[in-house]
Amino acid sequence: MSSIQNLATNRSVIAGRINGRPVGGGSRPLHGPTGDLVAHLSLSDVPDVDAAVRAAVDAQQAWRRTPPPRRGEILTRAAAILAERRTEFAAAITREEGKTLREAGVEVDRAVDYLSFFGAEGWRLAGHEFANLEPNLRITSRREPLGVVGLITPWNFPLAIPAWKLGPALVAGNSVVLKPALEAPGPSVLLAELLESAGLPPGVLNVLIGGGATVGAAVVAHPGIQAVSFTGSTEIGRQIAAVAGQRMARVQLELGGSNATVVLDDAEPDVAAELIARSAFGLTGQACTATSRVYCTPGIAPALVESLAARARAVRIGAGTDPATDIGPLVNPAAHARVAKIVETAVREGAVLHTPREAPPPFFEPTVLTNLAPGAQIFETEVFGPVVAVVEVSSLAEAIACVNASRYGLVASILTDSLAAAQTFTDEVRAGTVKVNEATTGNQPNVPFGGLKDSSNAAFKEQGSAALDFYTVSKSVYLRWAS
Ligand code: NAD
Repeated sequence: MSSIQNLATNRSVIAGRINGRPVGGGSRPLHGPTGDLVAHLSLSDVPDVDAAVRAAVDAQQAWRRTPPPRRGEILTRAAAILAERRTEFAAAITREEGKTLREAGVEVDRAVDYLSFFGAEGWRLAGHEFANLEPNLRITSRREPLGVVGLITPWNFPLAIPAWKLGPALVAGNSVVLKPALEAPGPSVLLAELLESAGLPPGVLNVLIGGGATVGAAVVAHPGIQAVSFTGSTEIGRQIAAVAGQRMARVQLELGGSNATVVLDDAEPDVAAELIARSAFGLTGQACTATSRVYCTPGIAPALVESLAARARAVRIGAGTDPATDIGPLVNPAAHARVAKIVETAVREGAVLHTPREAPPPFFEPTVLTNLAPGAQIFETEVFGPVVAVVEVSSLAEAIACVNASRYGLVASILTDSLAAAQTFTDEVRAGTVKVNEATTGNQPNVPFGGLKDSSNAAFKEQGSAALDFYTVSKSVYLRWAS
């Protein structure tokens, strides 16, 4: 039986999976961002965590002995199937998360790339040989899987984030307990089924649909889980680090952001505004890499603000399923209330609003603010909505100081033709990724990704070959033989 039934209708049941079979109980309605009934959730509770870990422990015995290229082949096959089922997966993302079908299609493409990339990594897993003084001794190190890993994911990229964690986890020979966010769990379940159809043995990937404070916390605390990779808010990340640290489990935390774009006078205002609009308003601002702060020098400020506000006003807001829509709603009314409060606070702090506030919740207009002091609340918080605050600064040095004043350090970009300014910026900015003449959003699957400061525990990177460092442990082997 499929654990997602009648997906095309509004009467589907979404259940987790243990050992290749649906799991969970009850029937809790899942509503999309605009309140329509999307599915019924068959929820797991804490005892299912133990059952999932036991299934994962058993399945890992054969999985870790499967040659890495064969493990990779399954991911490669899954990537091909996912590409064929692009429309179906995009529809599931849009229905649950609310982004447009175009944006959801791009997310599916990214997931295909992650699976393809890590499929090929199966042929590249390698160890190391050390020099030594003795003729009959060989000293090597090899990468071994950790065992069972727990993956806890947010709702905003409900397919791509599970895919970028599952790729390295599985190809390295680990088995997995995945707990997606309750707001948009369907794509994770679909992906698990797809991986099984591509040849992944039952029990290697188990998915639990449940609450964060219950099921998520039980995954983090379970002694059978060797490592936890978490993407989500900084606040929950801190709690997870404390619990995992107590039992000395390896933990990877990729957290919130307050990303900045710097614009210097030599940039072209319309080109800059276009890049910022894409970074700030695309995906309804619900990307950890979204730009929410802009620091610009005085010569370009008026033209930049005018062009950015015009672009904000031209964005067509609506249902993600409508091909005419540029951006969908915020994920739920609570998210709307939170973003609205951030804007209201900014206005109370003296911000000038350059765009109208008319859309009914949970829709939120792209919003451009100016006239805020560096210490304003919006600069201390992750906005996670289509809102950008533009601040005039006197110099590149002041811009860099403002960028670095944030407690977050995920992505920062500079828009300039000056090679010297670009070089200074990339040298001096404290962020996991720095860009020149690029949107803050977007990254390639083969390039390491992760933040600094409150955006990450910065212990391990995700994506690229570097992602395998988290999912493997090196074993040193001394091998002596008689001559
Ligand atoms: P969240 O922190 O509320 O939840 C993330 C996941 O953690 C969910 O699956 C949730 O159920 C679970 N969870 C909640 N409490 C838990 C607990 N006590 N123990 C274990 N698990 C628990 O985040 P969200 O609202 O789903 O996602 C938005 C956040 O994710 C934003 O802050 C965004 O910046 C961040 N994010 C970061 C990246 C990145 O790579 N840095 C990427 C995407 C999203």
